[in-house]
Amino acid sequence: MFEDRQRPLVPQYIQTLKPYVAGKTIAEVDAAYNPSRIAKLASNENRMGHSPMVDKAVGEALAHTHNYPDSFSRELRQAIAERNGVSPANVIVAAGSESIIAILCRTFFLNTDEALTAEVTFVGFFVQTNIRGVRLRKVPVTEEYKYDLTAIAEAVNDYTKMIYIANPNNPTGTYVSKQEFERFMSSLPSDVLVVMDEAYFEYARHYTDYPDSLSCGYENVITLRTFSKAYGLAGFRVGYAIAHRDLITYMLKTKLTFEPTALGQAAALAAYGDEDFIEKSLQLVEEGKKRLYSFLDLHNVSYVPSAANSVMLILPSEQEAESMNQAMLEEGVILRRLPAFGLPHCIRVTIGTDEDMVRFEESFCKVAVH
Ligand SMILES: *Cc1c(COP(=O)(O)O)cnc(C)c1O
Repeated sequence: MFEDRQRPLVPQYIQTLKPYVAGKTIAEVDAAYNPSRIAKLASNENRMGHSPMVDKAVGEALAHTHNYPDSFSRELRQAIAERNGVSPANVIVAAGSESIIAILCRTFFLNTDEALTAEVTFVGFFVQTNIRGVRLRKVPVTEEYKYDLTAIAEAVNDYTKMIYIANPNNPTGTYVSKQEFERFMSSLPSDVLVVMDEAYFEYARHYTDYPDSLSCGYENVITLRTFSKAYGLAGFRVGYAIAHRDLITYMLKTKLTFEPTALGQAAALAAYGDEDFIEKSLQLVEEGKKRLYSFLDLHNVSYVPSAANSVMLILPSEQEAESMNQAMLEEGVILRRLPAFGLPHCIRVTIGTDEDMVRFEESFCKVAVH
């Protein structure tokens, strides 16, 4: 298009951009294979759904959707601030953590600035830095598929503006311990922004050595959390960040005025009030992980123990991962292959309901090469 233009239509970094590829939808799998039942275990959603309080709140909010939403998400920010012992001025709410990451990229990068993260982590950060044309350097993970914080700290240079750490990490499920985090922070220049993406915070918060990035007292830490995972609101698109008020003030300037939607704000507020639902969800995931580990041990499949709501399987080869994934898909079990994360021989399995996990096991036994 517009080939005769003197100057290119889009920047080089947009021409070469690899967009985020989402997991398969139920409708896609239904249309392609029409399986008797579908277990969607590809996108780390909460397979229990969401709190019933959400339905009620959204029903009520629906009556007011001819009005613009509160652009400052005041009620929700107040609730998040209270729960975390900070002021609403320390909180920003946006259309998912992905939007928060986009806001970070819009707000803080000068043209010469660089970002730093692990080779194996949430692809959303790669995409958003690329969209902004930011140079992103990636450090290999350790043999245990963990963030190598020592190597990341050593890779910091004068241009490093931001370090991104998903904790627990996606897709590995591994986490950085309190001790590792503290050693890392004390080795960094204090003006490097450290983004702690805690999308799976709820699943890990009870571990005694999981670092609380909010109470650590570092002014350069930005904590990201989301309603998409444990709260079961992925379709509503609500996430938030907690940080020093000066950082939040800058971020509020670049957020889209009316994100998240009014329904999203209402849903998140209602979900946030139902801790019982979260506890039940966490219990389901804990039990589901134990059950999956035993199953994988029994069938000699390697995996990485996880602090999140998914488990990464390590298959002997890329080919085996591909054929396993495809055969499971045809059985109606949607899993996530990980070539985009740099792990073509690995498959990520979200922990679902008991019924989902039975389906996974039965299908696995059916398709596995004996
Ligand atoms: C799922 C996930 C997100 C996406 O969250 P949204 O709030 O739905 O945009 C962010 N970070 C990590 C590490 C994730 O796994």
